Amino acid sequence: MRQVIIIGSGPAGYTAAIYAARANLQPLLIASSVEFGGELMKTTEVENYPGFPEGVMGPDLMLAMQKQAERFGTEIVYDDVVSLDLAGETKTVRLGNGDVHEALTVIYATGSAYRKLGLDDEERLSGYGISWCATCDGAFFRQKTIAVVGGGDSAMEEATFLTRFADKVYVIHRKDSLRASAAMQDRAFTDPKIEFLWNKEVAHIYGDNLVTGVGLLDTVDGTESTLDLSGLFIAIGADPRTHLVHGQLDFTEHGTIAVDGRSSRTNLAGVFAAGDVIDPTYRQAVTAAGSGTVAALDAEHYLAGLPKHVLSKALTVPAEPVAASV
Ligand code: NDP
Repeated sequence: MRQVIIIGSGPAGYTAAIYAARANLQPLLIASSVEFGGELMKTTEVENYPGFPEGVMGPDLMLAMQKQAERFGTEIVYDDVVSLDLAGETKTVRLGNGDVHEALTVIYATGSAYRKLGLDDEERLSGYGISWCATCDGAFFRQKTIAVVGGGDSAMEEATFLTRFADKVYVIHRKDSLRASAAMQDRAFTDPKIEFLWNKEVAHIYGDNLVTGVGLLDTVDGTESTLDLSGLFIAIGADPRTHLVHGQLDFTEHGTIAVDGRSSRTNLAGVFAAGDVIDPTYRQAVTAAGSGTVAALDAEHYLAGLPKHVLSKALTVPAEPVAASV
């Protein structure tokens, strides 16, 4: 039995691992079989992570976090969690390969997935003009013409932020009214660089190696048009990856895991949540890293308060996971 199992390998998971490992909790981190490293593995240059004045490539940053976690004794398993049993004193984590791991605490940090338009060229041109993060990629579009898709607060925030760099920012929205709050709408409406394209859906993305434009479909009359662009920011929402804990943990009205105040404590003793799964608003690598720190400190504090006979069960790390029994 482990003292702590961390699920997720983005900035929240790795930072939790660095702290837990340095506290000698010998954490096991489940990193996922394919998408290890989180969303930053899909970005190019990260210019807003403190400590890198020249910027750092997203995958390099995640590799550095992974090495730092391993340096202090984190064990990493590259597999997917298929089910969790979090209610009792002993938490059970089942993996796709059939292994079953047990721990006294679980830190759940599986991140969120930006919603996609579902177009053929969206993945191919991701990082080459298609982006899901204005804060991360906006500076690459100085004096360009770009567009933001979406009608919520994220889209308004991204569009307004992007006017710092771009000469022209279109907002493409599938309806004729916005879902965004009045204040965010007003800011966007009064910005001279922003122009709204109402009742339009992005039907095609054009470009061989870099985005050169989009094909639009009018949702009212069905007419098609083309718009020349250098960049397309997709801001149609993000969904926290929480399917593994539905029915076990409490949620907020935003669909994120409910935690106690500024802590990472969920409704279940010994279960902590960090990063995008608890954050509907900021969703930055550095805020996720901070959140991972909070979770590791909360887990450490929780373990310190357990009776000795309970804690003693987890003081030695098994060489192998317990036998699979489903
Ligand atoms: P929302 O779910 O609020 O809005 C998503 C927008 O994208 C909607 O306008 C929706 O259109 C549109 N959309 C969804 N799917 C598609 C699609 N397939 N194609 C085209 N358009 C699509 O997400 P947000 O990320 O904007 O906001 C999430 C939460 O975070 C909200 O609670 C928001 O208030 C909060 N937030 C707050 C901020 C702040 O206060 N500073 C900043 C950012 C977010 P439709 O309207 O037709 O459904």
